[in-house]
Amino acid sequence: MSVPGEIVLEAPRRGRPPRHLADLDPAERRAAVAELGLPEYRADQASRHWFGRLEADPSAWTDLSPADRTLVGEALLPSLLAPVRELSCDGGATVKTVWRLHDGSRVESVLMGYRDRVTMCVSSQAGCGMNCPFCATGQAGLTRNLSTAEIVEQVVAGARLLRDGAFPGSRDRVTNVVFMGMGEPLANYRAVLGAIHRLVDPVPAGLGMSARGITVSTVGLVPRILDLSKEGLPLRLAVSLHAPDDELRDTLVPLNVRYPVREVLDAAWEYADRTGRRVSIEYALIKDINDQRWRAEMLARLLQGHLVHVNLIPLNPTPGSPWTASDADDERAFLRALEEARVPVTVRDTRGREIDGACGQLAATAS
Ligand code: SAH
Repeated sequence: MSVPGEIVLEAPRRGRPPRHLADLDPAERRAAVAELGLPEYRADQASRHWFGRLEADPSAWTDLSPADRTLVGEALLPSLLAPVRELSCDGGATVKTVWRLHDGSRVESVLMGYRDRVTMCVSSQAGCGMNCPFCATGQAGLTRNLSTAEIVEQVVAGARLLRDGAFPGSRDRVTNVVFMGMGEPLANYRAVLGAIHRLVDPVPAGLGMSARGITVSTVGLVPRILDLSKEGLPLRLAVSLHAPDDELRDTLVPLNVRYPVREVLDAAWEYADRTGRRVSIEYALIKDINDQRWRAEMLARLLQGHLVHVNLIPLNPTPGSPWTASDADDERAFLRALEEARVPVTVRDTRGREIDGACGQLAATAS
């Protein structure tokens, strides 16, 4: 565990989970089954069951002999996530799950059903090293990075809930994934990118989702934003800005001391240029801290003319913090200032508030 109060970019290496099928790309899966003394096509069969049919229990894989099922199961399907608690709200349309990982650390994921889409909000790290003072996850520091399979499993768990009828009247598959749960995804770049490949690669290599439905949200790790822009994937990038000026942003998003507003936005514009995708600017409105009209105007000047969309998020108060959401009038004035400058802007519909499942509330304290 890191010391609360410091920024941690390198995660501790202990607590690594065992290797899982979903950690591997198709070539690595073939090599892994060959190591077990099995023909390589077993890798393809296993992938069809796991990714194509969401069937995690190898005893149901009847096209493999019982002996081979046992071998593959023991070598490549360790249990990674155990549900500790499942909470639902918003009339059943939001479900938060608290997971225990193999080393006892806990993470959370949130499934949200809408009429036309289903969004899974996933964690990329146990805890977070970015230390943003308004965010519940940031307060406990970083425990460790999640593995690719631990991230993919969160999405697959949501997909299974939907298949089993969790949200009647909504879609029956996960259409969107947002890396807005616990952790800073770009500080766990390799595992996150591996997970994204498992999500978007076509069955049986992966789940066959659209990259356009996946959002990577970051505090602004500039070199990693530039790396992501070169991956050739039309992912959506969300940048957690929260202030247009370095003086305030240094305190709200401590990494700003290393990568200030100007550099973060330049990286975002480069991302938009290379991918053709509109960048989302996340701005949590905090009463009397960052919600002044002059800051809205300053923000508008920085964003005007770029391929961008602003997401205003009413602050979800976290325990022990003196901060609260902006007054309705101030929120409206902030919104209007951006609209007047013709910067596309919406106010985020915050799901999951009553179950501590909304943005920045994930703290994995439920037991
Ligand atoms: N580390 C990444 C992703 C996780 S947080 C990032 O910071 O972008 C996902 C979003 O929730 C971020 O925009 C974050 O700033 C926001 N958030 C954190 N705490 C919040 C709170 N208490 N109220 C509203 N939004 C919050």
